[in-house]
Amino acid sequence: MQTIENIYVDGAFTTPKGEERLPLFNPSTEEQIGTVRLGNIEDVAIAVASAKRAFPRVSRTTKSERIAMLQRLSAAVLARAAELTAVMAEEYGAPAYVTGFSIPHAASVFLDMARTLETYEFHRTIGRAAVEMRPSGIAAAITPWNSNIGFICSKLATAVAAGTSIVIKPSEMSAIQTHLLTECLHEAGLPAGVFNIVNGKGPVVGAALSTHPDIAKISFTGSTATGRSILAAAADSMKRVTLELGGKSPTIILDDADLDRAIPHALMVGFGNSGQACIAGTRILAPASRLDEIKDRLRAAVAGIKVGAPSDPEVRIGPMVSQTQWDRVQAYIRLGQAEGATLLTGGEGRPDGLNRGWFVKPTVFAEVSNQMRIAREEIFGPVLCLIPYESEAEAIEIANDTSYGLASYVLSSDLDRAKRVAAQLEAGRVAINDAPHEPLAPFGGFKQSGIGREFGVFGLDSFLEPRAVLV
Ligand code: NAD
Repeated sequence: MQTIENIYVDGAFTTPKGEERLPLFNPSTEEQIGTVRLGNIEDVAIAVASAKRAFPRVSRTTKSERIAMLQRLSAAVLARAAELTAVMAEEYGAPAYVTGFSIPHAASVFLDMARTLETYEFHRTIGRAAVEMRPSGIAAAITPWNSNIGFICSKLATAVAAGTSIVIKPSEMSAIQTHLLTECLHEAGLPAGVFNIVNGKGPVVGAALSTHPDIAKISFTGSTATGRSILAAAADSMKRVTLELGGKSPTIILDDADLDRAIPHALMVGFGNSGQACIAGTRILAPASRLDEIKDRLRAAVAGIKVGAPSDPEVRIGPMVSQTQWDRVQAYIRLGQAEGATLLTGGEGRPDGLNRGWFVKPTVFAEVSNQMRIAREEIFGPVLCLIPYESEAEAIEIANDTSYGLASYVLSSDLDRAKRVAAQLEAGRVAINDAPHEPLAPFGGFKQSGIGREFGVFGLDSFLEPRAVLV
């Protein structure tokens, strides 16, 4: 049992004023593995005051000082990568292939931001104006549980690059991994107050940050519903707000696709992170002319996917993070059947042989219409919808017929055709076939998937405010 009694404020671990404690669980076993003591509104006030004291100094740091801080943060995360991996697997049930990527990725976001900084122009001349990119002011970050370490690191990296101090409210369900990560970040030896980490509930600590008059910028990653309430709360003090929200992303299998590659790829992007990914391709759009073949291949491929605890390296799908999330996914599986979709594979209950842990059967619904709730709402579990289309134009229409617009996937043997389709998709990111990750590319959503962009120059811009001096 791990008892987390501290928050991190003004460069030190301190006891919060808040006294409420929350139990923490291992989702693979359902056993309680710890408790976290939560901060409250007073703790937010103390953390913001600390960030405010640090701001004048950090905002005057030079580019090379910021690059040095980013390098130290990256090294500090890498130094304890093995421990972070183990904790992430225990607290969150993430399979080995997820943790194997997540921790090195979290360390690399600092170096990616350092690379961005090297060529970033803080001073520009536009006509007769001298334009200076200034830090927008003290920032707040609020992160989700499904990629808590990664988003703490990317938001902190951007704040440091922009020359601002930050108060971070991590997901309250990820307190053990956050605590270990904070120890690592502390080792980097940044000046006190540059970053502060306050555990707490969203409607308490998150809401207090969203309304605090001294916070100028909020960077939020989480659900669209929470994003909406943060945007409303931030309006009074006119904060700059970046929102990275949910998705219902399409995977378009074009009729010329090589199914030997397309089917495993569609399942990888659909079931990645056990289906608990904002960018999951949860609507598979299949050409009607090849529907039967695609169904057969999906059924066979899903049968070969191993579900279980992260201790088994063969596992591709781990548990849902909590009982609440398990219940929610089960309710959607029942809803899909009630709406008239048919189960191609999977269904309600735990997979055979797993009678403990919040495990879900990897599920694919066929005969899905894009108007059904299972095709419109984010389920956040390993549940996919197979939707047939007659023509390329119809595939594009179905893909765009959603309130979301985070990611899209196009699978085809004809690159020009895939690019033509990609250009018509209303999403912040479109991946063609097995395109590799590009860490400096802008990341964010169209429509209700968010506002603004993260990573690279677009992410850095979002923490800065241009000032034009006319002489
Ligand atoms: P969530 O919205 O429930 O919580 C996210 C964070 O917001 C948590 O720290 C929570 O405590 C806090 N919060 C809750 N209510 C709040 C309030 N009223 N004011 C301020 N803060 C509040 O999301 P979650 O369940 O933790 O994460 C899953 C969601 O995150 C999914 O919708 C997923 O798509 C989304 N997500 C998006 C991205 C992206 O980059 N677009 C990445 C990962 C996850």
